[in-house]
Amino acid sequence: MSPTLERLVDQIAKLPGLGKKSALRLALHILKQSEADARALADAIVQVKIKLHLCAQCGNLTEGDLCVICADQKRDGALLCIVESPQDILRLEKATGYRGVYHVLGGVLSPLDGVTPDDLRIADLWKRTDQHVFREVILALSPTADGDATSMYLLRELKARKLAASRLARGVPIGAELENVDEVTLSRALAERTKADN
Ligand SMILES: [Zn+2]
Repeated sequence: MSPTLERLVDQIAKLPGLGKKSALRLALHILKQSEADARALADAIVQVKIKLHLCAQCGNLTEGDLCVICADQKRDGALLCIVESPQDILRLEKATGYRGVYHVLGGVLSPLDGVTPDDLRIADLWKRTDQHVFREVILALSPTADGDATSMYLLRELKARKLAASRLARGVPIGAELENVDEVTLSRALAERTKADN
């Protein structure tokens, strides 16, 4: 393989879910495209890195200081939903009629992978709950072992701060990543969320 083609294949193969074979197929597809299309792809990749950053308030992806959800005055600012990633916000927005605001942790606690509270946006969360009044905090983390452990940790901390908390109803299959849960189930799990007796 030519070194130039190999370089592209190696870069594409770094993306999740793509092995060398799929990477080669995509690289050859790009090779067949016009130079304008190839430049547009390269530019879109660079621009997303330059322009997108985390919302100063919730950790969602945004091009401005605040994301569209935090900037929306019509949303219920006293209802807070805690999620793992900006992708989960997209899912919940599409699947449910949720009108509150969010807080993105940037992952879940994982002793095996060395992820501690300091690695997540948890200090930012407590700063937020200190500065604003929240009527209810909803934990919408994946019901995996790490997601459940993170929910338990947060419930203890929420209790210590005298904040009312709830969790997604158990309609979400145990062990499932939130991103793989169908929209109807996700919508029902949010609507029928259970009050945590913390
Ligand atoms: Zn935001």
